[in-house]
Amino acid sequence: MRLSTLFLRTLREDPADAELPGHKLLVRAGYVRRAAPGIYSWLPLGLKVLRKVEDIVREEMDAIGGQELSFPALLPREPYEATGRWTEYGDNIFRLKDRKDGDYLLGPTHEEMFTLTVKDMYSSYKELPLTLYQIQTKYRDEARPRAGLLRGREFIMKDSYSFDVDDAGLEAAYQRHRAAYVKIFDRLGFDYVIVYADSGAMGGSASEEFLAVSPVGEDTFVRCEASGYAANVEAVVVPQAQPVDASAVPAAHVEDTPDSPTIDTLVTRSDALHPRADGRGWTAADTLKNVVVMLTHPDGSTEPLAIGLPGDREVDDKRLAAQVAPAEWAPFEEKDFAAYPMLTKGYIGPTMLGLESPSKIRYLLDPSVAEGSAWVTGADEHGKHVYDLVLGRDFTADGTVQAAEIREGDPSPDGAGPLTLARGIEMGHIFQLGRKYAEALDLKVLDENGKLVTVTMGSYGVGVSRAVAAVAEATHDEIGLCWPRELAPADVHVVATGKDRAVFDHAELLVGDLEASGLSVIFDDRPKVSPGVKFKDAELLGVPTIVVVGRGLEQGTVEIKDRRTGNRREVPVGRAVGEVL
Ligand code: ATP
Ligand code: MG
Ligand code: MG
Ligand code: MG
Repeated sequence: MRLSTLFLRTLREDPADAELPGHKLLVRAGYVRRAAPGIYSWLPLGLKVLRKVEDIVREEMDAIGGQELSFPALLPREPYEATGRWTEYGDNIFRLKDRKDGDYLLGPTHEEMFTLTVKDMYSSYKELPLTLYQIQTKYRDEARPRAGLLRGREFIMKDSYSFDVDDAGLEAAYQRHRAAYVKIFDRLGFDYVIVYADSGAMGGSASEEFLAVSPVGEDTFVRCEASGYAANVEAVVVPQAQPVDASAVPAAHVEDTPDSPTIDTLVTRSDALHPRADGRGWTAADTLKNVVVMLTHPDGSTEPLAIGLPGDREVDDKRLAAQVAPAEWAPFEEKDFAAYPMLTKGYIGPTMLGLESPSKIRYLLDPSVAEGSAWVTGADEHGKHVYDLVLGRDFTADGTVQAAEIREGDPSPDGAGPLTLARGIEMGHIFQLGRKYAEALDLKVLDENGKLVTVTMGSYGVGVSRAVAAVAEATHDEIGLCWPRELAPADVHVVATGKDRAVFDHAELLVGDLEASGLSVIFDDRPKVSPGVKFKDAELLGVPTIVVVGRGLEQGTVEIKDRRTGNRREVPVGRAVGEVL
């Protein structure tokens, strides 16, 4: 690649809409260009890096027996209707109509298409196990496309799907993918953690995420040094949650309950709640009663979710759930439960008020509620409102409510030690889907005994375009991008300086030698550009080794500079290739 002809324009100024340094640099260095919010064009250098990430992912998927294919991004509505995702995805999918008024969508992920294709082509256990994958463009109308490629509305994902006849087969396929992901993220050079993950809209059971440790990550995870336990905070889920019969829940408002506070005014804590000295929540005074967890629906309506005991009772929440009949829960009276059957099914342990880890909050959620937010309200004996926002976070459609504020130092669920918190970027996600999709779309095969059995599936994603951004974010410095060799758009950046024809001729020969020895080269052969500008551009582009051919030639040397460390040394021209290799 010669900079005199390469389709590249570097920028001195940061793009106005860029939030993160790595993103600013990718735009300034001419790797990508924004076309619309969350939608990017890949310019030649950017595409080279993207292809390198793809190659690593492809090699590791092939190594575990994955077979590559490619599905369209433009998909019919029906399969997504059959699995419920046409509506479940809400505003997050791009829907469109064709000229005959038919409904289509731009695929956010492809479980449905893979399942249907396998169903069409396979019919026997003998054809399984099977792993298929694609590296393909996905579309999600993200609410907050952010940080460029990190959260695109159009982005590139590797998605693979495993098909097995039994649970042991699925477990093996899952473990193969897990091992392949370890290799992929090692090769990409990430500092990453593997965390238990929430399975979200996918359903299914076992699920882990690969998070690149990064302060700019949108995910928060907890880790326990002692046991190695690590989980996305979203996944520190309380497993007891069970669906509540929605039809049994009257449309009630808390105002209907005489003892309960109204909830329309957000009143700050009264003296019934005392901040704890260690800053972790509040201690409730004896006088506090009627603690209610409120659910606010997206449309602004509210309903009570659970009630609890005053926070200073020394009661273990598990025992409370098992042994204390709801009717005994002070200070609610029987009539209150009659009015709110839902309330009888939930409770708040003392932890809610900060006596222990707030991660232990347990309650049940109406399964018809797909999203919302919750908060806690209560009243002391004088009828004052006591209020504080304890939960802030989303509910999942499967009826579980995720733990809220887990704090640094909280005990890990396995009891092995304290938790530490950090942020990460979700780079990959592996799921044991089970039979959810196969059942919905009727994917069955004949087993050894000639009986029809439903296939069990896994789904596995890697954010390929996100990886480019995450590497840029993790490796850049204040002067530019700083690629690891395996992902850099070239191995060497050769700069010819000055106006002397002989210098350019020598540089040309050196470039030829470097390429002949298998290295890829960016050659700054621009005749009328000052050395200062050339050096700045070389630093901005971030190729790991920079070779300067210039004044040193009179002594028969060139300068070799390491982009990351800034270390430079003069070496004889004849030894330059060997030094770079
Ligand atoms: P996130 O939590 O960041 O929204 P997700 O859990 O919705 O991601 P998955 O459905 O698990 O994403 O998709 C598999 C992988 O695709 C993710 O692990 C991530 O690396 C990548 N990915 C998801 N959404 C985006 C996006 N909007 N832009 C770029 N990459 C994405
Ligand atoms: Mg998402
Ligand atoms: Mg996620
Ligand atoms: Mg995910």
